[in-house]
Amino acid sequence: MAVALPSFFTAIMIMSRLMAFIGISKNNDMSSKLQALDIAPKVSHDPSAIESASQDFGHIVKAAPQAVLLPSSPRDIASLVNFSYSNSVPFSIAARGNSHSLNGQAMAKNGVVIDMTSMKSGNGTGIRIASDGSYVDVGGQQLWIDVLNATLGLGLTPVSWTDYLYLTVGGTLSNAGISGQTFRYGPQISNVYEIDVITGTADFVTCSPNNNSDLFYAALGGLGQFGIITRARIPLEPAPKRVKWVRMLYTDFLDFTRDQELLISKNGRNDNKALNYLAGSLLLDQGSLDNWRSSFFPPQDQPKIISLITKFRIVYCLEIVKHYDSQTKTTVDKDLQQLLKGLSYLPGFMFEKDAKYEEFLNRVHSEELKLKAKGLWDVPHPWLNLFIPKSKISDFNDGVFKSIVLKRNITTGPVLVYPMNRKKWDDRMSAVIPDEEIFYTVGLLQSSGFDDWRTFEDQNKEILQFCEKAGIKVKQYLPHYTTKVGWVNHFGSKWSTFQKRKLQFDPKLLLSPGQRIFNNNQ
Ligand code: FAD
Repeated sequence: MAVALPSFFTAIMIMSRLMAFIGISKNNDMSSKLQALDIAPKVSHDPSAIESASQDFGHIVKAAPQAVLLPSSPRDIASLVNFSYSNSVPFSIAARGNSHSLNGQAMAKNGVVIDMTSMKSGNGTGIRIASDGSYVDVGGQQLWIDVLNATLGLGLTPVSWTDYLYLTVGGTLSNAGISGQTFRYGPQISNVYEIDVITGTADFVTCSPNNNSDLFYAALGGLGQFGIITRARIPLEPAPKRVKWVRMLYTDFLDFTRDQELLISKNGRNDNKALNYLAGSLLLDQGSLDNWRSSFFPPQDQPKIISLITKFRIVYCLEIVKHYDSQTKTTVDKDLQQLLKGLSYLPGFMFEKDAKYEEFLNRVHSEELKLKAKGLWDVPHPWLNLFIPKSKISDFNDGVFKSIVLKRNITTGPVLVYPMNRKKWDDRMSAVIPDEEIFYTVGLLQSSGFDDWRTFEDQNKEILQFCEKAGIKVKQYLPHYTTKVGWVNHFGSKWSTFQKRKLQFDPKLLLSPGQRIFNNNQ
């Protein structure tokens, strides 16, 4: 049967509004029906479980579910989805990984939140390394730090990471999973052989580029809209032992970006001479030199860096890493020098560290512990993450960093800016990036007080308005829109495929309602 998409979604929208209207009584009904299911003992109505499922790392949005499922296997998840799908009044369901979303993306108002971490050690969804060491099978609920520790035990490692490792595999694969490795290895979604997914029709599907490929490409970067990822098969490579970790400072943005682009032009996956990691950030008068991305600069050099920042107000910091092990120990310095030859960083402002591979990868965690001890971790996080086409990054620097950010002078957390290569992304996946071959990621990773996060949100709005006026075609990463028009513009030419896939894999719009893509009411 051919269904006209807009009218189908309009009908579903009307139904969901009606459901919201009659929500209370129906939800009570839903709760009592849930008690009759075999998963009933795993369904919690405990106020503390509801409270923690009502918030996230952003601490900006709050939405309470009716119940929280604590599954011990994918079968429990399938039972829940099947129950909702076959119910005369279906309810929404959100997988909740480690709840490190910023705007309620893992919440399900009046629905059921699935606490994925309750499967951490359960029933065939753990971390299993292939006997030939070529890949690891990991449950969608596993934290990347646990994947790292398990694979390092056998001298192996995945190659594409996020800055912070206390995020779940299912959570980052639903976005993209980016960091300084992306320019060379692609985002985490480009490093997956196969996934198991429970769709919105409660089907359990194994998919890969050759098998149920539509669902594979839909789910990767799919913002949780098409199914719940219960397993991912991730390629492994031999792990290095240590890293050379270098930061260089610039006061000229053009020099900074020219050098970044030069360095990422050497990006062959198997090119041993290429860098393993490249990132960049802003050092601002407001921010601490060693914000949560890592303590780095030697104490004796800090006064000269601080006076540089005081003089120029913005200093750009290029950060690179080269891996090494016992075989490359004697050549790594020479290789690094070769890569850095001819770069335009400020003389006397290059700083180097030698660290264990895992210490480098887990660099944010030690800062997290420090902030937690000071009560500064569980605070509102009005973040803005953008992808910006290379051709406009200089306009962005002038209009945003040098104008809006300096004028408002409130930005405290890390501000990231570094380029990546489009060819390392797979356009068949749901993730959205700019059209140009090189694009930058910019992350304003701000923390605020519980009373003043709106001031930061106002700055974020001003930045987006500036980009629109200046014709800078940005794409949001970890996107957050409250209107349908916002989402349609975000997906651009991918919108019709995204809608069709929704109709195919989650026709009753059950999954990840906190993204507000199909239920934004506007
Ligand atoms: P959640 O917040 O729990 O869920 C995110 C979304 O995915 C929700 O819509 C949820 O319903 C859905 N979902 C969760 N699990 C599944 C599943 N198994 N199957 C299908 N859908 C699912 N991102 C980067 O790319 N690079 C970084 O360097 C990076 N650093 C970060 C640092 C910090 C301190 C924080 C807080 C976030 C960072 N992020 C980064 C963003 C992060 O990747 C996303 O917020 C991610 O969604 C968080 O993972 P989570 O496991 O907490 O997911």
